[in-house]
Amino acid sequence: MENTILCANCNQDVSNDTALFCAECWNKNVTIEEGERQTTLLALAELSLRRPGWLDHLERIADKFSGRKMFNGFRETSADIISRDSRHEHGN
Ligand SMILES: [Zn+2]
Repeated sequence: MENTILCANCNQDVSNDTALFCAECWNKNVTIEEGERQTTLLALAELSLRRPGWLDHLERIADKFSGRKMFNGFRETSADIISRDSRHEHGN
């Protein structure tokens, strides 16, 4: 029992997720600030450039953050950085 992790809100066992909240309470309790929202969208945009096959999936997440336009903007501004990185990774 010493390693049991309980949801910080409803005390449901969340040990398997090593999470602070269970999924239900996450939806009710977690709010993000604007700066965090933008950082998340930037991370999603960069990931979409590295993993083009994930674009649809990542676009849907961006929609949940009401940030499709910002997501697309970050994809444009990060495109050259990401391609430079991947050239480096491939040794060119
Ligand atoms: Zn909970």
